[in-house]
Amino acid sequence: MSIKHAFSLIVVIFIGVFVFSQESKTKVIFVLVDGISSDAIEKVETPNLDALAKEGGYTRAYVGGQKDGYSESPTISSVGYNSLLTGTWANKHNVWGNSIKAPNYNYWTIFRFAKEHRPELKTAIFSTWLDNRTKLVGEELPANGNIKLDYHFDGFELDTIAFPHDDDTLYIHKIDEHVTNETARYVKMEGPDLSWVYLEYTDDMGHKYGDSQQFYDAIKIMDSQIGRIWEATQYRTKNFNEDWQLWITTDHGRVAKDGKGHGGQSDRERDTWIVTNAKELNDYFRQQRPGIVAIMPSILRTLNIKPEKEQLWEIDGVPLTGKISVSSVEAVFKDDVLNLTWDAYDQRGKLKVWMSPTNSFKKGGVDEYIRIAEVKIKDEKASINMSHLPSNFYKIVLEGEHNSITRWLKKK
Ligand SMILES: [Zn+2]
Repeated sequence: MSIKHAFSLIVVIFIGVFVFSQESKTKVIFVLVDGISSDAIEKVETPNLDALAKEGGYTRAYVGGQKDGYSESPTISSVGYNSLLTGTWANKHNVWGNSIKAPNYNYWTIFRFAKEHRPELKTAIFSTWLDNRTKLVGEELPANGNIKLDYHFDGFELDTIAFPHDDDTLYIHKIDEHVTNETARYVKMEGPDLSWVYLEYTDDMGHKYGDSQQFYDAIKIMDSQIGRIWEATQYRTKNFNEDWQLWITTDHGRVAKDGKGHGGQSDRERDTWIVTNAKELNDYFRQQRPGIVAIMPSILRTLNIKPEKEQLWEIDGVPLTGKISVSSVEAVFKDDVLNLTWDAYDQRGKLKVWMSPTNSFKKGGVDEYIRIAEVKIKDEKASINMSHLPSNFYKIVLEGEHNSITRWLKKK
């Protein structure tokens, strides 16, 4: 090869690498702001969230799993955080309260998927509560693959010298500020690929004062904090040619009576919301009320992470971006017949219906699925005779081209 040709080749390779790196620069921040019911977020002025939603969208959402169903989950903070992280309800991730006794790490968090599939991605957590990293994300735990985040900024609630605890929990506001400012600084300087920000003060004001000016003021403060984080991402976009996708949501609403408590299954406790600047929001985001579990599979898509089929089938959320096939599946057994209904998003495609009589996945094992039917998506319903199948427990999967939904069933 002549020197001239060698030089041309190097130029071509250089351009190739440059174009490739240009394509792979979408970065994600998801923010959980604690305990803000949908009526409160809609009532209080939040100019930054409004501006963010203008680029993407705002939707009401829900927490708490299927009310009165097998996935019903308490509307308690850690339960909601882990549904956000894993894309599953409490019957799978097994966090039922804030003591976080025994999370089931077989249901991977978004950080585990990122580390296992794309180890080059830089991850970070900025949090007013330490357990989010040490217990839920499960950093450096053998049961969780010993994953380690690239950066953390948390644990300040344990530092009573820098942040002396006061009766009015103003110290939590100060920690939120500390966490927000560091998020903005770090994003500007380092541009991490996947970050979780957790801010707490709104929930403290909710518990103490309920529906009150103090609670509404805390929401306004939160909005200004989101503004600072968003501004940092805009700086990156301008100077580093990166796309930044933000997801902002909450972990539960509040009781109807006075807005102080939460944990139950009332509408106001279950009703939440999602704000994002994500492009390609689909009709499921626009027309339905998605669960908090929908954010995680959306981020998987953004980061181009493709889980193994068995893992993908366990995720309870329907992606909010890009194409989907099916949502809102109901599965009921009656007289040995499995009756399925769903909402169709693909008028030409088919759904494969799979069944497994075991749930070994829960213990890190593998389930064997049998295909029991293939149906037209546009029909939005199907009845399948299962009298010849002896098991009393089934996982049913409806597999479309673009997404799948799993339901647990008990035969009576
Ligand atoms: Zn909470």
